Amino acid sequence: MTSCCGTQQKAQEIRPERPSCVDCKTLGCAHNNGRYPSFCETRGMTDEEAALLRHDYEEDAETYEFMKATAETTARGFAEQLCRAEETMDYARRMGYKKIGVAFCAGVADEARIFAKILRIHNYKVVGYTCKVGALSNAQMGLKESCCNFGLVACNPLTQVRRLNAEKTDLNVLMGLCVGHDSYFYKLSDAPVTTLMTKDKAMVNNPGAALWASTTSSLWNRMMRPDESFAARDDAQEKMSGQE
Ligand code: SF4
Repeated sequence: MTSCCGTQQKAQEIRPERPSCVDCKTLGCAHNNGRYPSFCETRGMTDEEAALLRHDYEEDAETYEFMKATAETTARGFAEQLCRAEETMDYARRMGYKKIGVAFCAGVADEARIFAKILRIHNYKVVGYTCKVGALSNAQMGLKESCCNFGLVACNPLTQVRRLNAEKTDLNVLMGLCVGHDSYFYKLSDAPVTTLMTKDKAMVNNPGAALWASTTSSLWNRMMRPDESFAARDDAQEKMSGQE
């Protein structure tokens, strides 16, 4: 990959300390063609390790059930070109889940309502909580005043996950939670979690588009500039607010 400003070229020259699948150019495992780089995990896997893995997947009934349901849903998804909402329902049906929790961003409340309606048509019980539940301000949550610039009401993932845990949902579906709030939700949820929508403020909730676009646009330059790191931007912001 080349660039007139050389930024992309420079990025290519960064050698990973510990190469792994993210540095692989063959994807020999996915193509099953035996083209494995020197650092490849597949290349180093012995028959004994493979047999042990199969044992681990099969030994625990819940693990095997989840692997089987996922494989069948994925196969059907490809064959019938299912959308992700349909795959979610197909997976839930195969797993025997009856009660679905929906934790959603207030910004995608319309989509959450539509999803709940579809789930109910398919006889699932649904309970959902928006990120703004409780209507607490950022100040009440002990957050910086500057966070209020983008909305007075704070997101409240703790109440979302606590309520859904109390409801004893079988599966929780995330729709558009912020980066970080979603991590917290995944960590605390009693039920397994899947994501129907991922928030991306620049790319209409399609983060993959930003990654593709970054290879050909100024986004690439912005993301690859060390002096524009997030910590440096925080420092600059702090300095500016100190001068006001
Ligand atoms: S397992 Fe090996 S072949 Fe597959 S992506 Fe990783 S390094 Fe590449």
